[in-house]
Amino acid sequence: MKAKIHPTYHENATVNCVCGNSWEVGSTSESLRTEICSQCHPFWTGEQRIVDTEGRVERMMRRYNLGGGGSTDKS
Ligand SMILES: [Zn+2]
Repeated sequence: MKAKIHPTYHENATVNCVCGNSWEVGSTSESLRTEICSQCHPFWTGEQRIVDTEGRVERMMRRYNLGGGGSTDKS
């Protein structure tokens, strides 16, 4: 490698996920943050969980009276 043209490479950069999981990767940043990882993403957890960080799904459910044990009768 040519000297002085490459950013510092951190072999043990820490990645922190909002779910509390953290692990080490190689990166040019010392630490990274992420909102989703293999520990909490529904694809890997197998849960049918909606990742909703802004409450959009909740608002939509309320607006259209979906879920939340609401009335389901159709006349
Ligand atoms: Zn996570």
